[in-house]
Amino acid sequence: MTEPTREKSHQAYQRAQQLMPGGVNSAARAFGAVGGEPIVFEQGQGAYLQDIDGNRYIDYIGSWGPMILGHQFEAVKEAVHQAVERGTSFGAPTLAENELAELIIAAVPSVEMVRLVNSGTEATMSAIRVARGFTGRDKVIKFAGNYHGHVDSLLVSAGSAAATLSVPNSPGVTEGTTRDTLVLNYNDCQQLETTFAEQGDQIAAVILEPVCGNMGVVTPTPEFLSALRQLTTQAGAVLIFDEVMCGFRVAFSGAQSLWGVTPDMTTMGKIVGGGLPLGAFGGRRDIMQHVLPAGKVFQAGTLSGNPIATAAGIAMLTSLRDQPPYDALEQSSRKLAEGLTDACRTAGIEHCLNRVGSMMTLFFQDGPVVDWESAARSDVDRFARFFWGMIEQGVYLPCSQFEALFVSTEHSAADIDATIEAARQVVTTLK
Ligand SMILES: *Cc1c(COP(=O)(O)O)cnc(C)c1O
Repeated sequence: MTEPTREKSHQAYQRAQQLMPGGVNSAARAFGAVGGEPIVFEQGQGAYLQDIDGNRYIDYIGSWGPMILGHQFEAVKEAVHQAVERGTSFGAPTLAENELAELIIAAVPSVEMVRLVNSGTEATMSAIRVARGFTGRDKVIKFAGNYHGHVDSLLVSAGSAAATLSVPNSPGVTEGTTRDTLVLNYNDCQQLETTFAEQGDQIAAVILEPVCGNMGVVTPTPEFLSALRQLTTQAGAVLIFDEVMCGFRVAFSGAQSLWGVTPDMTTMGKIVGGGLPLGAFGGRRDIMQHVLPAGKVFQAGTLSGNPIATAAGIAMLTSLRDQPPYDALEQSSRKLAEGLTDACRTAGIEHCLNRVGSMMTLFFQDGPVVDWESAARSDVDRFARFFWGMIEQGVYLPCSQFEALFVSTEHSAADIDATIEAARQVVTTLK
């Protein structure tokens, strides 16, 4: 196989770095964790992406989640075309907003009322504000390794076991902003109990990814989930499931339906917008009634409920509801997971594969990976070599060990086989 050239990508990226910080519009795209230059794309179709040099890749990022039905899914494309013909933004109510709200409320057990926003970040930021307004309390618990967008108060992960003072992850985030954020360890029931025993009456909300994808895929234990539900209920704190990634992905009704635990609020993004900028937060009616103008917690947005984005979201959710792809996704994803695991085993490479449905992570370590501390033990240099080896084989994986890979309905048996065969070759070079 001849080495693919990415000369045009290289040129475009050189130029981009003069125009945008780091040459990108989202830090996650810059290949910081694997080294080298990001690839510049011009087209996506089904399970494939094509870069501007004409190279084709089997895409396992899927726009970081939204493309569960593949690129250019016909019903979404059609809905967007039709919406464009009616006007791109009114800043006034539309019927489509009712329709998408009804779809979300019918799908997600915890959601009795919803508000549409423009991104996952907006959804979590607003949910936190509502929880604080509703409870009249300040403190928020989050878990190390969970990502909730670039909300100031949530940009802390403080890898240490201690639930002491949180240190901001980023310059520009003040200590004042994060003072009320407590960072605990995922799956640590004891620490959660202690924290609630000591400060339960000050805690406004607990927010978590109920299937975590942002430290690589990590699942909550049943004990952890029931402790979360019980302790927040007892203390009168709001339990928020951040389902921006796993919502409509691990099941149509989200992780909360898989685990049988109903939170008080849910945040959504990614799939819910069908590939357009749209997020949502919702929950119990009595809580949501605190949002302006029904209540006093401020929330607004010029482009919120945008007609093009809502059209895409409606088409996406309708399709997922009427032709559920989840059994098929489970089968192809299981096959991929088994193939990747077997490739590593055969080559004698330490590995631990975590998966829920069509989201998975192959960690380069023996595992188990149950929280941030254990995830961080992975061999990230080996991952970087694996990533670039797979690129050369025409497989585009998430560019960090601590991200989830996504399978879409468009990944055929042949695509999965080709991916496994590529992995077999690449892992033999990783010793
Ligand atoms: C992607 C993500 C976000 C942020 O969503 P954006 O649309 O990127 O702002 C928040 N929470 C989780 C769990 C996510 O995966």
